[in-house]
Amino acid sequence: MPYTLQIGKVRCHILNDGLHPVDGGGFFGVVPRLLWQRVIEPNADNMIPSDTRSLLIETDAGLILVDTGNGDKLGAKERQRMGFTGRTERLIGDLRKVGYTPEDVNLVILTHLHGDHVGGATRWATADHTPGPLIATFPNARYLAQRIDLAEASFPNERTNATFHAENWQLLLANRQLEVVDGPQRITPTVRTDIAPGHTAALQMVWIEDQGESLLFLTDACNWAAHMNRLAWVPAFDIFPITSIETKRRIRQEAFERNTLLVFQHDAQVVTGRLVSGDRGPEVKPDITEAAWVDSTV
Ligand SMILES: [Zn+2]
Repeated sequence: MPYTLQIGKVRCHILNDGLHPVDGGGFFGVVPRLLWQRVIEPNADNMIPSDTRSLLIETDAGLILVDTGNGDKLGAKERQRMGFTGRTERLIGDLRKVGYTPEDVNLVILTHLHGDHVGGATRWATADHTPGPLIATFPNARYLAQRIDLAEASFPNERTNATFHAENWQLLLANRQLEVVDGPQRITPTVRTDIAPGHTAALQMVWIEDQGESLLFLTDACNWAAHMNRLAWVPAFDIFPITSIETKRRIRQEAFERNTLLVFQHDAQVVTGRLVSGDRGPEVKPDITEAAWVDSTV
């Protein structure tokens, strides 16, 4: 279900590519399960639900989409594992619900190139979504990725191999739709990116700032609100965990001072929140929440 928000004069929408089960140990790393299960109860297989949210921003310079979810190139086995029954009614369905089509998108910001963020950047051209020629899901859009993340994704190692799939971006590079950039970018007067290393070397978050209000799309710099409340809680997915802690320390202070609206991409309970003073420092006061779902049959 999409959520529409207003930051100053900028209207934006939180879209969702779907909820799917992920091993709780992936999200909570070395944190003992006895502690993290107080935040989210895992099922019998230790799986917890994970959302895959995107942000759609309406600007004077056009329509900006941040991340593309898992997309529709997954095979039948993969789709079943992730609990995806509908093919295109996830992110694209949410996009239509707020009044747009893939053709309307002018810019796609890829926060990084993991499969759950960039899988929807391209799709099979076949009518039944079976493997065939690839096309850009957003045919009129320019796509943006960080050079260091593209390098990391292009030459994966044994650990990172499973999440980097060249079919998600190779075509966009070949047809010059993918612009490779270095460092933080000013996109429009109200939208900019911010480098947040830790999860990957050059993860890019997105800020919206207008009329004294601000929104921060955290991407995987902070998956769940619980990761913001406890800086030492770092997902096992992060390739530079100590850097992740320092990145969160910086973000938390800045967002607290500015009363920024935080958007959590994977948190199955807290969609948005703001930081307020707590016993251990700033902590998230949830704004939009969702009832988490755990598929006990997974
Ligand atoms: Zn992710």
